[in-house]
Parts: sequence; C-alpha cells; structure tokens
Amino acid sequence: MKTQVKALVVGGGAVGTSIAYHLARAGWRDVMLLERDELTSGSTWHAAGLLPLFNMSYAATHIHKHSVELYKALEAETGLNAGFSIVGNLRMAQTQARMDEYMLYASTAETAEVPYEWMTPKEIKARWPLVRVDDLKGAIFHPTDGYINPADVTMAMAKGARQRGVIIERKWQVDGYHWTGSHWQVSCTRMVEKGGNLVPSDEQITITAEHVVTATGNHAQRTARLLGIKTPAIPVEHQFIVTEPDPALVAYRQLGGAEHPVLRDADAKWYVREERGGWILGPYERGAPARFPYGVPESFRADLFPLDLDRIEEEYLSMIHRLPSSEEVGLKDDFNGPICYTPDGNPLIGPAPGLRNMWLAEGFSFGITAAGGAGHYLAQLMVEGEAEIDMASLDPKRFGSWMTTEYAVTKNEEAYEHVYILHHPDEERAAARPLRTSPAYDRQKARGAQFGQINGWERPNYFAPAGFDDQAARSFRRGGWWQYAVEEAKAIREGVGLIDATAFAKHRVSGPGATAFLDWFTCNKLPKVGRINLTYALTSHGTTRTEYTIVRLAEDDYYLVSAGGWSDYDRDFLQKTIADKTSEFGWISCHDVTTQWGVFAIAGPKTRDVLAGLLRDADPATVLSNMRFPWLSQRDIELGMCPVRAIRVAYTGELGWELHHPIEMQNYLFDQLMAAGEAHGLTLVGARAQNWLRQEKSYRAFGTELGRDATPLEADLSRFVDVSKPFHGKAAMEATGIRTKCVTLLIDGPTDADPWGREALYSGETKVGRLTSGGYSVAFSKSIGMGYVRPDLAVPGTALKVRMFGEFWDAIVTEDSPYDPQNTAIRLDG
Ligand SMILES: Cc1cc2nc3c(=O)[nH]c(=O)nc-3n(C[C@H](O)[C@H](O)[C@H](O)COP(=O)(O)OP(=O)(O)OC[C@H]3O[C@@H](n4cnc5c(N)ncnc54)[C@H](O)[C@@H]3O)c2cc1C
Repeated sequence: MKTQVKALVVGGGAVGTSIAYHLARAGWRDVMLLERDELTSGSTWHAAGLLPLFNMSYAATHIHKHSVELYKALEAETGLNAGFSIVGNLRMAQTQARMDEYMLYASTAETAEVPYEWMTPKEIKARWPLVRVDDLKGAIFHPTDGYINPADVTMAMAKGARQRGVIIERKWQVDGYHWTGSHWQVSCTRMVEKGGNLVPSDEQITITAEHVVTATGNHAQRTARLLGIKTPAIPVEHQFIVTEPDPALVAYRQLGGAEHPVLRDADAKWYVREERGGWILGPYERGAPARFPYGVPESFRADLFPLDLDRIEEEYLSMIHRLPSSEEVGLKDDFNGPICYTPDGNPLIGPAPGLRNMWLAEGFSFGITAAGGAGHYLAQLMVEGEAEIDMASLDPKRFGSWMTTEYAVTKNEEAYEHVYILHHPDEERAAARPLRTSPAYDRQKARGAQFGQINGWERPNYFAPAGFDDQAARSFRRGGWWQYAVEEAKAIREGVGLIDATAFAKHRVSGPGATAFLDWFTCNKLPKVGRINLTYALTSHGTTRTEYTIVRLAEDDYYLVSAGGWSDYDRDFLQKTIADKTSEFGWISCHDVTTQWGVFAIAGPKTRDVLAGLLRDADPATVLSNMRFPWLSQRDIELGMCPVRAIRVAYTGELGWELHHPIEMQNYLFDQLMAAGEAHGLTLVGARAQNWLRQEKSYRAFGTELGRDATPLEADLSRFVDVSKPFHGKAAMEATGIRTKCVTLLIDGPTDADPWGREALYSGETKVGRLTSGGYSVAFSKSIGMGYVRPDLAVPGTALKVRMFGEFWDAIVTEDSPYDPQNTAIRLDG
C-alpha cells in the first residue's frame, strides 16, 4: 500500500469522495482516500437523496448549485448512473410571511443564477391533483433539482476519482495525526470484521501526507480529539418513513401523471417524495436529540436508531392533510439515522484552527446536496489558495475556541429544529443564550436592549420599551423594531448615542519585527505613533481577508481592531502568517486581547458635551479638541476613574470616539456615561441603526462588502491602498483588475420594506450586480443599500433597479458617502 501521498482524504462518504475526486480533477496527483469501513457506510447510505437548491446563504447556494450540475454530468464521465431524478422541488407556502421568505430567498437564487418559478395554488392543483391546495398561498418551484441515489452518486464520484488516479483504500482507520513541520504522519489501523463488528487489527501503517482533509461525518468529535482541536460538529437524529404504495398515486401515474416534485410544506416542517408508488416523509420535528457528543461508539456501524413515531405525529398528520390519499396507506419502512449538524446548520469547510495543511470538511447536514460543491470549492482553496466564492461563512474558525460540547449539542438541536422555521433575516436564535456577555449586559437589558448574538457575544440590536416581543416583531419587511432603530439613528445624527461594540476582535501585535511585518501584511501605510489607519490584510489572491483599524501605540506596538465576533478567524490567520514571517522580519508577539477590552462607541454632535464632565486632565477643556485629539488619532484619556484608550473614529459618520476600556471597569464607565449623558439626551443605540448609518457613509462592512471574493480596489477603497509599497497579495490584486465595483445606492423601495442586502440589481432587463447590504437611511428618508455592479455602472447618478418582492424599484448610484461627503461632522471641532 502506498504510504506517501500529496493529499490524504479521511472518510469515504459523499463528502470525502467528492473532495478526492475534485483534488484529482484540479490536477493533484497522489491523492489517497481512506475509509474505515465501506464507502457510504456513514450517514451517506441512509440519506433520502434530496438535493434542495433552496438555501438562504449565498455561499451554500453556490455549493448546492455546483453539486446539482456535477451530478448531472457524472454519468457521461464515469458511465455510472447516479439515479438523478430531476423531478423539481416545490416549496409550498401556507402564509404570506412564508411567501415573503421565498421572495427573499429568490433574491439569493437570482444572484447565484439558480432557476426558479412561482406557482399559484391553482397551478399546483392542475399539475399535481393529489395535492391539497385550498389553504396554500402559493409556492416556489425549482425545476432543476430533485433527488438522487446517495450511494450511487458517491460510487460515481469514487469511479471518477479512480479514473483520475486517486487511490481508495477501505477498512483502514486513521488513529493519529502528527505534524512534522513539513508534512503529516498519519497512523492507520487495518479494520477487520469480527462477529458482525468492525474491530481494529494489529496491522498498522503510517502514511506521510503533505495535506490532509478530514471528512469523517459523525466521527468528527473523535477526529477533533486526535487533532487537538475543538469542533461543534455533532450529529442529531433524523428520521424518515416510507409508506406502502398509495393506490391513488399508483393510479395517477398509470394514467400518465408526471412524477411529483419533491414536495416541501415548510410550515408543516416536512419534505415528501414519491418512492415506488408510495411516499417518503421526512420531518424536521421538535425534540430530535443530538447523539454521540463525545464520539461514535465502536459498535455503531451503518446502524440506525429505533423509529420514534410519537415525535413526528404532528408532521405525519399534516402530510395526510396535504396528500389526503396517504391516509389509508400503511408504513413500509423507516430510517432514523445520525445527521451531523453545527450550531448554524452550515458545514465546516476550510483550514483547521492552528494547524498547517489540515483541512476540515465536517458537519454536513445536507451532505448529499453539498458534497459536489464542497469538494469543488475546497479543492480550489487547497490547490489555488482561494476559492472563487468567499468561504468565510463556512470557515471552521467562525466558531470560537470558547465553544463547549453542551453549547454545540444545544445549538445543533436548535439548528435541526429550525430547518423549516421562517428564516427571517432579522432572526435571532434563542438556544444557549445568554452565554458571552459584556459586563454591561444587565444594565443594557434593564434599559430595553434586544440582543443579537455574534459568535456567542450578546450585542444590542436595538432598544425597545419594556414588554416588547422581539420574536413577534420579526418580518421580511420592516419589523416591529424598525421604528426604534429609526429613533436611534436620528439620535446619533442629531444628538448623541452610545453603542456597545465590545464584540470587536482585538489583537496586540508588538516586538522588533512588528512594524516590518504589519507593513507587509496590510495594504495601507502604517500610522504614526498615536495615529490610526484603516487597512486591509489581503489573501494571496489579492482579495480582502480582514479589515483592520490599526492603532500605533508605540514604535513597535500595535493594537488591531477587526470585525465583531471574528476573533478566532482573524487570530488564526495572523498567528500563522507571523510564524511564517518571523525569520524574515524578526520576533513578533501576537495576543488576542478581545476579552480584555470593552468598547463603547459614543457618537453624535453632542458627544463632547457628554464627555466634558468626566474628563480628568490638567486642561479638560482641550482634551477632545481637534488640536489635541484630531480625527484618526488615539489618546489615553481618563474618564472619571476609568483609564480609556480613546480612538477618534465613528463608524456612524458623526463626531465620535471609540472608548476602549479595561473590561472589568465597564460597568463603572457605563454608569458614568449614562449619568453624564442624561442632560444631553444620550441614547442607547443598537447594531441595526449603526448598520444603516454606516451605509450613509459608504463604510464597507466585513462579511458583506468586504470578503475574499473582491479586492480592496474592487471595493473602491483605493485611498486605503498604498501601491507604492510592497505588501502581501499586491501583485494578485493588481493582476485581478476591476471585475466588479462597490457602490452605494439610494432606493425608492416599497413603503413597508427595505432591502436586506441580498437583492439583485438590474439595468433595464439586464442583471448587473447584487446588493450586499441594505437598510433605511434617516438622512434621506428612503431605503439605502451597498453592493457590487458592473464597473461601467459604478458612476454616481447611474439609474438602476433593485428587485424586491418580485418587483423592480428605482435606485440611484450615489457618490461615495452620500451623507456628509466632506466629513465635516466627523471633524467638528470643540
Ligand atoms: C435519515 C437521513 C436522511 C438524510 N437525507 C438527506 C437528503 O435527502 N439530502 C441530503 O443532502 N442529506 C441528507 N442526509 C444527510 C446526509 O446523509 C449527510 O449529510 C451526508 O451523508 C454526510 O456525508 P459525509 O461524507 O460528510 O459523512 P458520512 O457519510 O458519515 O461519511 C463519513 C465517513 O468517514 C468514515 N470515517 C470516520 N472516521 C474515520 C477514520 N478515522 N478513518 C477512516 N474513515 C473514517 C466513516 O466510516 C464514514 O464512512 C440525511 C441524513 C439522514 C440521517
């Protein structure tokens, strides 16, 4: 057996097999796949094989779309028929809110070029007369998806992989990983059958691999333990039942009726498809338990759990309601298997935290649907260094190292139960909260804070009167919270507001090599001591990896502030790059200080009035003047008894400071600020108002305008790129050119809705781009958005259309920073 390879894939389910196939397709020789049992013997064999294109995430939509396209082409390549039935996929809606959800989803589909059609209840009845439609509002229909045989498609990918030189070895279990500094030594044990069990033999080998990918499905916890990392991938039970043939269905088909599409009654929380004259019902019920939180027992092979019919009674009855002919039909078969989940329901695809050349492809809950695309984009990441889509939303490090087993279990069960909930864009999920709270959490809660959660951090979204029900206020249009966000935004524009920004990721980078390193690592000039700069660390492809506000505390001492909640993602990249560059630049120290510093952002024309009474200084009247504390600088100041690292920036575009303070003094500082602010109408402001205000200033946000699919030049941030110096990713950035360009748009939208940042942009009949952010502008009293368009259209005054709720709405490309383009408010002296 070969013991030296370029890439070793561990796990022969749909996902691992697809990765091996795609690595070979991308040109890597010497790819090997190890499977401890048989190919497909994990979750793959008992999947129902549905390939739903519907997904609210832009990245996941691309992944699912790629799978569907690949699976259609596999037979021509391999000669194996994967049993792809392109019957379409009909998602029915019982309520207007559900139709609104589909319309928002249609925006994502449109931008990812996934075809869909709308259907009325009458049209559904005309095509599929067995479906009851009298209580339906309508449906969205995907003509291009359907279902596939999961084992057959895996075997087809395995054959395609073998044809391209991949070695697939079964009955070998990986038991240990050791990184030598240049490659992985992977210890493997031969597995043998003994009395119906699969047990380790004495035969062991070590395989040397440059890269390792783990795709170990339900075994992800064992894999994590072997690697010494944490992952939230833990399975949850999922069951589906198969009925006896339904005489009405058999008769309908005998009369030439077309096969039913995969039916989804999202409000009833199930999917149904035809199976040999009967029906398969797959519910996403309440109360499905997580399994194997500490690893799969040795005795569990391709096993199933007992059916729990009581748990799915409600969904069963609702199937009978929707398909009345199924009432008389008995049960023929049932499947209850483990299906791996993560806290947000999306898989973990990308580099493992802290490790080199170790790639994770774990936590797939729609692994048959995702396998093809996951293999494609992960192979791009590994072979080319980046994927063509931004994979950050699927990166394993989006969950921090603070995460525990109980957290993952709780959130994974919630993610399962939420598969068919209304995916409100303003949704905040309730499980495992509050967990990570800044000290002033209780104080803000007492003042009406409605919290959102970002990587576990509780962060106020907005403030509402006592008794306000955030859940009831959610909407696909303007939710019940909208008016409060409007008031908060106005408070900052006209008075003064306070925002808890403690969730920001913060790193301290210092030491003799720090300056040379950061100068190379980021694309803008480094600030002088006491000054700050906005800058970007790029990927090797010249796209934006991370946005930093860099504060230079001393010659070789820097404080880096980046997007809220992304501390593990940023830390991993920083620390790995520092380790690579230390020999070149000298010793560099890097510490994640996120949880040591609280942050309050205070902003608005009356900011100085609030702070005046708290300043302790020999000359308090001038501490915050433009002379002593100019815009884009940092000073250590004292507010009462709290030492504050104050930074003069405001993400809202008003006069303001970020008050970074020792976290243990946060409550003291909060009380001081609230007391001092009372006379000036200091208003507590949440993240939603802040998100609107920053769009009025065209401030790009990480994860929306800024990501690994666009360069800073495409984000139209050339003023923050110093092309006179060498920096990481520069050549690739310049070679990329401007494929698309970031713009801000003012939108005459519907009176009851604003865009969410997922909508397609049109010029006449032609799709020319997409929104990445959206909201409401208090300065212009209309909807606002930011997004990417064809470069020739990124000209102020260009008239475009935004598609929302199926209609086209006028939008005008504005100049950068439509509100206060001269930055007069920010520079206000006093
Ligand atoms: C009842 C049910 C219905 C489902 N229906 C659908 C559906 O309709 N559509 C859909 O998209 N998804 C569906 N799923 C989910 C789908 O089955 C999974 O998402 C998918 O199979 C995951 O594939 P995988 O390759 O990640 O994991 P797996 O198929 O579990 O493969 C992991 C493999 O890794 C091997 N392995 C683990 N550890 C080691 C090791 N140390 N060394 C060597 N090998 C190792 C295991 O033996 C296993 O074969 C369903 C799941 C269930 C339970």
